[in-house]
Amino acid sequence: MITVQRVAKAVGKHLTRTALKLRKALGARANRGCPACGATVVGFFRYGDNGEWGCPECGASPRERLMNWLMAQGTLTVPTDGAILHMAPNEASLVRRFAAAADYMPADLDPSRYTVPNMHRVDLMELADTDRYDLFYASHVMEHVPDDMAVLRNILRALKPGGEAWLIVPLWEKPTEDGSFAMPPRERERRFGQWDHVRQYGPDFADRIRAAGFDLEEIDAASIDVATRHFYALDDRLFRARKPGGAASR
Ligand SMILES: [Zn+2]
Repeated sequence: MITVQRVAKAVGKHLTRTALKLRKALGARANRGCPACGATVVGFFRYGDNGEWGCPECGASPRERLMNWLMAQGTLTVPTDGAILHMAPNEASLVRRFAAAADYMPADLDPSRYTVPNMHRVDLMELADTDRYDLFYASHVMEHVPDDMAVLRNILRALKPGGEAWLIVPLWEKPTEDGSFAMPPRERERRFGQWDHVRQYGPDFADRIRAAGFDLEEIDAASIDVATRHFYALDDRLFRARKPGGAASR
């Protein structure tokens, strides 16, 4: 669905991306970096309220850069010997990293929206695997599912003991507000920021993850030292959920 809000964001994105290319062409010093593609850049392009959102070289978002930085640091390790379920795989750098796994499954409710090879159709409401995956990754997916507690329990069951779910959602500072697909799309857009979102999460997303049975670590970009955070324009918060049991660490 095309809405005024979407068009305005897209136009703003295009304008600042063009401005960055111009600055680079005019010889501006490239003194920033992108951990997703490794490029040095003159800055990042605007998207919505975030003036430093996208990498002008690869398009990586702040959350995509955060994930790459955490993996480069060794804070997060891709289980390359194991199985990975990667939902909504539209972050190219993460597809590259996760596809190194022995059993890589890129998936979405609507696989036709992606150009990633070997896409699978997975409806998280119906996910019925048990003890199958070492890693589950979903960025900006949980705000689309009708019943997020049911989906969190499905993910928990689908993971091997000790397996991890890396979850990122749009956050505001207020408590989570839930909606439903019974609401008109324009009301969902007004309340939750996008017509196909059925809720807006707050920090209490953590409580839902724990209530589903996970152990949880929260990794917020705000906790990274200021110089590093600025250099890569890192933002967002990763909810690193672990299924109890299994080896203590890998
Ligand atoms: Zn990049």
